[in-house]
Amino acid sequence: MKLLEEKIKTCGRILPGNVLKVDSFLNHQIDVKLISALGEEWKRLYENEKITKILTIEASGIGIACIAALHFNVPVVFAKKSKSSNIGNDFYTSKVVSYTHGNTYDVIVSKNYISPDDKILIIDDFLANGSALKALVNICRAAGATVVGAGIAIEKAYQPGGKMIRDMGIRVESLAMISSMNETDGVVFCN
Ligand code: 5GP
Repeated sequence: MKLLEEKIKTCGRILPGNVLKVDSFLNHQIDVKLISALGEEWKRLYENEKITKILTIEASGIGIACIAALHFNVPVVFAKKSKSSNIGNDFYTSKVVSYTHGNTYDVIVSKNYISPDDKILIIDDFLANGSALKALVNICRAAGATVVGAGIAIEKAYQPGGKMIRDMGIRVESLAMISSMNETDGVVFCN
């Protein structure tokens, strides 16, 4: 999506560790109009699907998912980071390896908020190694819900997550796909 690519080119910054900093418009300060355009595009791409719920992961997915959800007119559920390893039977749980911090943590979703009737669109800001997205797919599958697909703002296509998730049979629609990024060439997009 050209609009998002242009924004990344003008406002994104490449940090060490293969991290693209986009906190001036995506995950700290939020450009609501831009995110709404992303939501509109995911709505167009998933037009023929009867999506009942959007699932994301805290914290940075929440704002994007909520704005996108206005276009789908469905609720948003976000997986919470769990501090306790003993959470009882009321939650679905899965492990995530944090891309930016390197640690592993559990995410949980209450059994009250996903059911076998749900057709779920998963939304997140980035797809890198695929750990966050895989955890959300696992939670949907544990609940017996259908994963219609994923809507990702920025996929770093040179990292393995996109292939791994597509190989699981999940449709992934990424609105900016980065083929490489480094200090010399900047951010290069797939075409
Ligand atoms: P994955 O689980 O696919 O390895 O990484 C996805 C998660 O890590 C996203 O939810 C996002 O918060 C974070 N992430 C991965 N790559 C980047 C990046 O280049 N920049 C930022 N800001 N976050 C990233």
